[in-house]
Amino acid sequence: MSEEITSERIQQHAAYDSKVEGNIIFTQVDTAINWMRKNSLWPMPMGLACCAIELMGSASSRFDIARFGAEVMRFSPRQADVMIVAGTVTYKMALAVKRVWDQMPEPKWCIAMGACASSGGMYRSYAVLQGIDNLIPVDVYVSGCPPRPEALLEGLMKLQDKIADSESGKEQFQAEKTA
Ligand code: SF4
Repeated sequence: MSEEITSERIQQHAAYDSKVEGNIIFTQVDTAINWMRKNSLWPMPMGLACCAIELMGSASSRFDIARFGAEVMRFSPRQADVMIVAGTVTYKMALAVKRVWDQMPEPKWCIAMGACASSGGMYRSYAVLQGIDNLIPVDVYVSGCPPRPEALLEGLMKLQDKIADSESGKEQFQAEKTA
């Protein structure tokens, strides 16, 4: 008799366990990977001119880039996955920017912050690269001279949307296939 009661209790427990029920989420691998990636972007702050001051401002308590999980500015390219090019890219600096970009591991993204990084800005000059996209692929362009920190944060949110829509698993599979 006592054995039957025990067995019944076990069955009841297995059929409905409120603790377990609240902790199970069904999702897709891509969605889970993208969710983790987009909320833990580690920026490589490529501050080259005045726009860099606004980039620094975005990390202050007033704007608080940490709300988007992107406050961990790394000064080693090997620990960063989003390069924020903030400022005028002169030819003298351009190849150094490219070298740092090449040292960043995949997957990686780039934000061109401000008119200079996006297009050379007002400098139609022999000394200035007319947009960092001549050297590295840019995911998001932020307009302004300089853009305010809010504009950078909007650009960051656009990048998060782009990452959320990407096919991470498929890209990983193709990268491994071609390696
Ligand atoms: S876009 Fe304007 S503020 Fe930004 S680096 Fe160029 S000149 Fe300076």
